[in-house]
Amino acid sequence: MTDFYAVIGNPIEHSKSPVIHHAFAQSTHQDIQYERVLAPLDGFAEAVHGLIAHGFKGANVTVPFKLEAFAMANRLTSRAQDAGAVNTLIFDAEGIIGDNTDGVGLVRDITHNIGVSFAGKRVLLIGAGGASEGVLHPILAEHPALLIITNRTMDKALNMVKRIEANDEMLFVSIQAYAFDDLHGQHFDIVINATSAGLSDSHLPLPAGIFAPNALAYDMMYGRITPFMGLALQQGAVVFGGLGMLIEQAAEAFTVWRGIRPSTAPVIAMFIQQAKA
Ligand code: NDP
Repeated sequence: MTDFYAVIGNPIEHSKSPVIHHAFAQSTHQDIQYERVLAPLDGFAEAVHGLIAHGFKGANVTVPFKLEAFAMANRLTSRAQDAGAVNTLIFDAEGIIGDNTDGVGLVRDITHNIGVSFAGKRVLLIGAGGASEGVLHPILAEHPALLIITNRTMDKALNMVKRIEANDEMLFVSIQAYAFDDLHGQHFDIVINATSAGLSDSHLPLPAGIFAPNALAYDMMYGRITPFMGLALQQGAVVFGGLGMLIEQAAEAFTVWRGIRPSTAPVIAMFIQQAKA
């Protein structure tokens, strides 16, 4: 019997998730169908209930519905609670479980695929939106020496830091919020762009010298060279886009749903090959 899954968003036609999940299903011999669902901006809950009524087993959730998905779930995994957002829904007899696989996806891409460890490193996280919130705890769990969050709207970065500081389990962490202007003279081993500035080709006001020698510059956006990536290349950093994160977060969702972990390397290679063609 085929099991059905979907990704819900608005817009959604650009989503690569069906291709990724069908590739995972083929390689793990799972009988699934995965489709895109465009929900009206005021129609997320209705779209989810529609899927449940049709017997779907789960769904991924993308922009702009991750907070609504968080509010709608009857039960939340601890990583969804930490993130304050949900990108993966599991439908079972008792209702809707909300999970978040974005953070684990980013960390796995950087540590396993790219081969860079966070342990003992100086890390700069740019942005304080949903994606930044989603990756914060998983990055801290890797024990960097220092994590600085910077954001155009400073209050949001300060709030993220305050929440970590108020959490007794996070007392081992050195975490601070800096304005862009305060970054002069600082340098980092790993710089992660979790803003959507690249969507509009906007430049981030990053000072020269923030990339330590051999630093990793990671932009969560994928499919284009953003101004952040251009700047990082000019300054000698090793640069990656967010394709690996996208595929790793999908692999984690697939594992949660199907109980079997797909291999991600062939799917990453397939997308890189397609981009070159
Ligand atoms: P949000 O809308 O929640 O947050 C946007 C963030 O970008 C905010 O911090 C905002 O700052 C900042 N920002 C937007 N425009 C600018 C600008 N011109 N200059 C400086 N800062 C700016 O978006 P998300 O957090 O959900 O997503 C962020 C990015 O991450 C997107 O590009 C998304 O595609 C990508 N992403 C990639 C994933 C992957 O799997 N590869 C998964 C999830 C997200 P302010 O607070 O001041 O408005």
